[in-house]
Amino acid sequence: MIALLDIGGTKIAASAGRGAAIGAVRRIPTPVESPLATLRGLVEGVMGGVLPEAIAISAPGPFDRTTGALRNPPGMPGSWHGLEMAYLLGQRFDCPVFVENDANCAALAEARLGAGAGHRTVVYWTVSTGIGCGVVRDGRIVVGRHDTEGGHMVLWPAWLGGPPCHCGGAGCLEALASGRAIARRYGIAPEHLSDPDAWVEVGRWIGLATVNVTTVHDPDVVIFGGGVCASWGRFAPSLFETIQRYLLLQPQPEIARGTLGEDRSLLGALLVAEDNGEDPARLLTAR
Ligand SMILES: [Zn+2]
Repeated sequence: MIALLDIGGTKIAASAGRGAAIGAVRRIPTPVESPLATLRGLVEGVMGGVLPEAIAISAPGPFDRTTGALRNPPGMPGSWHGLEMAYLLGQRFDCPVFVENDANCAALAEARLGAGAGHRTVVYWTVSTGIGCGVVRDGRIVVGRHDTEGGHMVLWPAWLGGPPCHCGGAGCLEALASGRAIARRYGIAPEHLSDPDAWVEVGRWIGLATVNVTTVHDPDVVIFGGGVCASWGRFAPSLFETIQRYLLLQPQPEIARGTLGEDRSLLGALLVAEDNGEDPARLLTAR
């Protein structure tokens, strides 16, 4: 069995799985103290005393692909910064450890088993406390040298007055349409926001981002998930209008909502580990 961890800004989910199926999921609040001890305890808990064949981690934000260390994960306590999870957990459990960006994990799961099944090029947006984007082509996550951070595509630059983003830039999608941005810009949590004009804006920003990613990747389908999508009916009309208005040279991709629910990143992490179990280039325990 493969132990699975999905590390988020507010909670960590853990499970164990094999063959594209995961077991019961445990969730705990993301700790401030002793993150490594917490992760070790979760792995031991979900494995029920058996050593894992591998550990797969869905990680928030940028990380080092050599050591699995998180780099200033957004909204998380400082104790997580620089934690070499893959190396340390690999030593403790004597197994390979795979780390992948949470949006990429979710994208892979939806592409294979969810709303993207049967499509060749799949884009997945998670619109939650933050915003992430994953692209899957021919069943594989599209990765480059380091990380992709689609939530930080700039839509409203500082020289035109775009609001600051926690990444140090300004006018990123995440600074305009994420749950955190909605709370800051409109003074109310997204689940309580009822102002139709505010939701029109949110839909426009997400629509523009979808146009931009479509110009580059020409996806068959663009899938949406994450907590803010609970308000899909409020912002989807302006999202669709924006795509129709600005995507002029390409056919519009199918727009769909994810079908796998909040455990999709755990499932995607499992797929990453199963895909790469024989590939030493992806084994992160060696230094
Ligand atoms: Zn940013």
